[in-house]
Amino acid sequence: MRAYRELSAAALAEEHARVAAAYAKAKAKGLALDMSRGKPGREQLDLVSGLLTALSDPADCSDGGIDVRNYGNLTGIPSAKALFAELLGVQPSQVIVGGNASLTLMYDVISKAFTHGLLHSEKPWSKQGGLKFLCPAPGYDRHFRITESFGMTLITVPMTPEGPAMDAVEAAAADPAVKGMWCTPKYSNPDGIIYSDATIARIAALKPAAPDFALMWDNAYCVHEFAGDFVPFPDMLSLCATHGNADMVYEFASTSKITFPGAGISCMAMSQANAAHFEKLLSVQLISADKVNQLRHVRYLVDKAHVLELMRAHAKILAPKFAAVLDALETEIAPLDIATWQRPKGGYFVSFNAMPGTAARIYTLCKEAGVVMTEAGATYPYGIDPADSNLRIAPTLPSPAELAAAMEIFCLCVRLAALEALLPRA
Ligand code: PMP
Repeated sequence: MRAYRELSAAALAEEHARVAAAYAKAKAKGLALDMSRGKPGREQLDLVSGLLTALSDPADCSDGGIDVRNYGNLTGIPSAKALFAELLGVQPSQVIVGGNASLTLMYDVISKAFTHGLLHSEKPWSKQGGLKFLCPAPGYDRHFRITESFGMTLITVPMTPEGPAMDAVEAAAADPAVKGMWCTPKYSNPDGIIYSDATIARIAALKPAAPDFALMWDNAYCVHEFAGDFVPFPDMLSLCATHGNADMVYEFASTSKITFPGAGISCMAMSQANAAHFEKLLSVQLISADKVNQLRHVRYLVDKAHVLELMRAHAKILAPKFAAVLDALETEIAPLDIATWQRPKGGYFVSFNAMPGTAARIYTLCKEAGVVMTEAGATYPYGIDPADSNLRIAPTLPSPAELAAAMEIFCLCVRLAALEALLPRA
């Protein structure tokens, strides 16, 4: 196979006829495959079945004298705080343990900023006009949608191999209307990038004009290596405090991709001053989170060493799936020189950059052939990728055999869309 750009018009036309025929054949199989969302596969869910019976005896339902079956302990049980604190490298007193989803906590921080204001807000955000939020992209669509839904203007910050482009971040943060930034610092969604130490240090040292700038530090993939050893990661709360920014950062994590998504536990970690502010606001909203599930998770997950052991078992399931995706791209697409992609070692995605102007077409071709992808553009604010290039591949849900079939179709679609773009118009 030769790079498409080197082919003559006649050779391109021949290749187009070949690929179009292969695509038609694949489409005729009538497959129904899903590479759209980052869900664990069945085997991963079965792996953690022990969670279902981790708490079965009423006599076991006590945590440091707290009966977890009853109301109370709004900010979580001590052992769950200690577990998350160990995973994130923060202090237990900085942790608020929430319900089944960290996304709810993120939404709540933004929502409370609008209704009541954050600790250093001069007034609630709803009483301030023209607010903006920084969105490193490609990024996580659900992050962007939260701030968009509150009417904020989303500002795209380009992602680099080291994290968000910091010159752009620093320049934008000088605007007092810029109220914060979304970050997934370890195995970013979708690029799978770990922010470099230099980037993390610059973020911690940021001097935003807004006194209530909210750094939304979503450490969703803090222990989610699928290749190689656990990669230690700095404690952003301490780093921010060192730079006089103790109250700027809100860190989030959950067990969604450790145990059961939708039935796990979540947390946010922040300065004690922020935690006190939030506890006051939360006390109006809630008497207690689901402490039974918190204790069930503590009994099952035990501590960081045990969590890392469990993550290695997840990795055994995930590694061949990611390899299947990367091998297919390496064999089918790399020689054609029509796309680039990341080779992550953790997280849940492979970020694929198709020939500019072809991502939406690839999405449609895949869909018509029975392969559901995350919609083209979804990784950018407002769902619009200016280069129409980025696609997020989520390899975790399908079985290896399904994945092979889905990737065969995906690669055909990438080739077909590139050929359509390269062929001289008649
Ligand atoms: N943050 C990121 C970066 C994610 O990729 C996901 C899930 N895809 C979530 C948060 C959702 O986490 P939770 O289930 O805890 O709401």
